[in-house]
Amino acid sequence: MVLPVPPDHLVIFGRPGSGKSSLAERLGAEFGYDLIRTGEMLRAAIRRHDFLGQRVESHLAKGDLVPDPLIFELLELNLKSPGTDRLLFDGFPRTMGQVPLLEQFEERLNFRIECYLEIAVSHEEAVARMTGRRVCPKCGTTYHLIARPPRVPETCDLDGTRLERRPDDTKEVVEFRQKIYDDYAVPILRHYQEKCPEFYRKVDGNQPLEAVYVEARRALGMDG
Ligand SMILES: [Zn+2]
Repeated sequence: MVLPVPPDHLVIFGRPGSGKSSLAERLGAEFGYDLIRTGEMLRAAIRRHDFLGQRVESHLAKGDLVPDPLIFELLELNLKSPGTDRLLFDGFPRTMGQVPLLEQFEERLNFRIECYLEIAVSHEEAVARMTGRRVCPKCGTTYHLIARPPRVPETCDLDGTRLERRPDDTKEVVEFRQKIYDDYAVPILRHYQEKCPEFYRKVDGNQPLEAVYVEARRALGMDG
């Protein structure tokens, strides 16, 4: 099902390894969306080391999720500027507790989410993609065993250095991140699917990234 007109405000969902973030970047660049990324906002707050940043940091240092009220403050800080006419939420809402927060922002800032877009990738495919990533410790070039293999196995094309996994790409960490998605994000998807099926779009993310992009554009009504 294709949206009649491209949405001005949308939320994108996808498990780690779905390619969601690069898709969001591409849509943002080509269709003029401001990307709303709570992950980046959190990192920026920590760098500023203001009162908000210090509270964020103390939660993360304990290994806790950042509580929803803090996420709300953070978004309030970043969203209150006018001129935010096209917004693409990437990574928010992340918990069911954040769903009403988004509704509050919609009401207060007078916009409506017109599409909830899911990049649907199987658990197996996501894990295979994430554990297949390799990086050259010398020059930083990234490879992928399936999508972008080096010419010589496990060796950088540019300088011959032996490739490494990124530290957060171990099987345990990858599985943990998938579980977080299953526990926190999947209920949100179910919620929107039931509440507003007319705004819900699902794109098959188990394809090469380019094909996912083409399908997403079509589903969002951007081709006509
Ligand atoms: Zn290299």
